[in-house]
Amino acid sequence: MKTLDLILPDTRYPIHIGQQLLGETGLITPHLKQPRVAIITNTTVAALYLAPLQHSLEQAGVSCLPVVLPDGEDFKTWDTLNRIFDALLSHRCERSTTLIALGGGVIGDMTGFAAACYQRGVPFIQIPTTLLAQVDSSVGGKTAINHPQGKNMIGAFYQPQAVIADMDLLDTLPERELSAGLAEIIKYGLLGDEQFLGWLEQNMPALRKRNKQALAHAVEHSCKMKADIVAQDEKEQGMRALLNLGHTFGHAIEAGLGFGTWLHGEAVGAGMLLAAEASRQLGWLDQAQVDRVEAILQQAGLPTIAPALGTVRWIELMGHDKKVEGGEIRFVLLKSLGHAVVAKLPAAILEQTLNSRFVD
Ligand code: NAD
Ligand code: MG
Repeated sequence: MKTLDLILPDTRYPIHIGQQLLGETGLITPHLKQPRVAIITNTTVAALYLAPLQHSLEQAGVSCLPVVLPDGEDFKTWDTLNRIFDALLSHRCERSTTLIALGGGVIGDMTGFAAACYQRGVPFIQIPTTLLAQVDSSVGGKTAINHPQGKNMIGAFYQPQAVIADMDLLDTLPERELSAGLAEIIKYGLLGDEQFLGWLEQNMPALRKRNKQALAHAVEHSCKMKADIVAQDEKEQGMRALLNLGHTFGHAIEAGLGFGTWLHGEAVGAGMLLAAEASRQLGWLDQAQVDRVEAILQQAGLPTIAPALGTVRWIELMGHDKKVEGGEIRFVLLKSLGHAVVAKLPAAILEQTLNSRFVD
């Protein structure tokens, strides 16, 4: 097991990465203020991992209240959040009861937001069970639910006490979800570390075969990069925005097709390719570098042709993003592979990008 520390101005917490961690209650118990937790999970993950987690915690003398929610982004809502509060209140959970998020990003985001609100804030621990959640959503303290008018629009910055990323849990992850997680991992290479990009190119077959050492290295490196960025800019006033590489284009794909048609990671993958293409048109990347981005996405099993939404609709959808400031869309673009910057894109280049061979 490896442990990273995320150090922030007023808190710090460990990110544990390894195998067979679900039974390691010693990673959880030191953070508890009372021997009692509520485990927030969904029906899919509960069937796989709730019993072993609950069993090992109970063996360690910790009583567990499981709260099993329906599965899916559609349930990342105020109503579901209330179901968490209902369960906590009816079981008289206190301010010192810790919430444990056992699931992917949907469960992690909702549990974190519930923890931020319940009795004005209770501690919570992240046990991410998807690759995407292990490398992205469980780290950094962004929590949220969706509103009918926009994704992740209601939320809080609220940091967990610890993150426990167990590679063994990825064995059961559907193939498409694995690839979606790989997109966010590729993102770290593209935005800040060309050497890591090279490592990913070499090791993509092992990652797709779920080789545990390869996965652990990729998760550790990604978490380290995210932790470094969040440590410098917790509330996204500056460089944290670089983590949105591919996300402005990706968000338009997700929203334009209806959320859930493409997975978030798939949309981000195609979005990164569009960001690379826009960067080429600005003269920052050459064709070979764009081809390299396309190739690694394909290696990861990700789509590389974005849907034809129509230029006007694309631009409109991108305007509905949280990254809009004063009506102008800011993009994360690539000065080179491994060096992202935030920039505005001239309208003509944006249009040419949306008319490129990467859009159907
Ligand atoms: P998800 O939570 O919906 O999980 C994907 C699917 O995999 C679900 O059906 C889930 O039940 C299933 N699953 C989870 N773990 C499994 C396992 N080990 N084996 C088998 N099936 C498993 O999706 P996600 O991709 O993990 O997360 C997406 C969410 O994360 C979005 O809501 C997004 O907004 C959010 N997000 C948040 C941040 C952040 O910084 N807070 C960052 C990125 C994404
Ligand atoms: Mg993302």
